[in-house]
Parts: sequence; C-alpha cells; structure tokens
Amino acid sequence: MNAANEMSSSFTAVSENEAFARVAVAAFVLPLNPTMEELTEIKTIVSEAVTNAIIHGYGERRGIIYLHCKIIGDRMELVIEDHGVGIEDVDLVRQPLYTSRPDLERSGMGFTIMESFVDEIEVDSAVNRGTRLRFVKYIRTPQSAARYEV
Ligand code: ATP
Ligand code: MG
Repeated sequence: MNAANEMSSSFTAVSENEAFARVAVAAFVLPLNPTMEELTEIKTIVSEAVTNAIIHGYGERRGIIYLHCKIIGDRMELVIEDHGVGIEDVDLVRQPLYTSRPDLERSGMGFTIMESFVDEIEVDSAVNRGTRLRFVKYIRTPQSAARYEV
C-alpha cells in the first residue's frame, strides 16, 4: 500500500498532553510494523519535541501544539509546531548540552536525541512567531515482523 495515510491533531500545550501525543503517533505508525526500538525512538522524538514546545515555546503562556503525521510506504513524516516565542539562533540551540533553562534542570540534550533517531530533521523558527519541526524517519522493518501494543 503506497497511498499516503495522514493524521492531524492539535491540543493544548500542557504537560498532560505529552503522553497523548506520544501514544497517538505510536498508534498511527503501528501499521508500518515498527520494531519495539523504532517505536521507542518515535515516542521519544514526540516527547522531546512536545515538551520543548510546552516549556520553551509557550512557557507560562497557554497555547496550542499542532501535530501532523504522514506515512507513505515505509516513510514517516512528522511535523510538530508551536506558535510560541520562537528560536533566535537555531544552530546554537541544536548543539549538544545547550539549554536556555539550566534553572529548570534541563540537560540540553533534546535536539541531539531527536537528531540521533531520525533520518532527516528540519527546524524552521521565527522569533515571536513560533517553531516548526519536521522529521523524516524510515521504518525499515520487514513487513512480516510482529506487532506490538502501544
Ligand atoms: P532537555 O531537552 O535536555 O531537557 P532543553 O529542552 O533545554 O533540555 P533541547 O531540547 O536540546 O534542550 O533544546 C535546546 C534549547 O532550544 C532550549 O533550551 C530552548 O532554548 C530552545 N528551544 C527548543 N525548542 C524550542 C521551542 N519549541 N521554542 C522555543 N525555544 C526552543
Ligand atoms: Mg528539550
């Protein structure tokens, strides 16, 4: 089946919804028969990106996080977007151990972790407009592999 399959969701930027986003994406990609490891990687990407949108993008403010996931064949494309404060210097924040919030005991490893689990990452951000992350990941598991519960 090579036709695209897509889903979108938008939700309030509160920490309770991080689990919702993680499980929703994991459930959506299950037909690709990901391995447990691939599924864990996908959930981690969603978790890091959504947490960043909540903590850094919106901070104390209320806002909406937009999620879009598309699968074609073995290719998954995931977009996570916020309309928060945006990032001034994208190259700087993508460096390992960089965090603007050491006071919150963040480790500055979110971007590094996300990058290590995907085939492509695109960061599009503008100050006071928000941040859009686009990931591409290939699920290379043979179709005969077992399925897992989310
Ligand atoms: P960790 O993810 O390890 O808990 P962290 O969130 O600070 O720590 P990264 O996820 O790598 O580390 O993000 C690095 C920095 O990029 C953040 O400290 C923040 O300054 C900035 N940033 C990341 N995502 C966003 C976003 N959606 N909006 C605004 N700034 C962001
Ligand atoms: Mg982070």
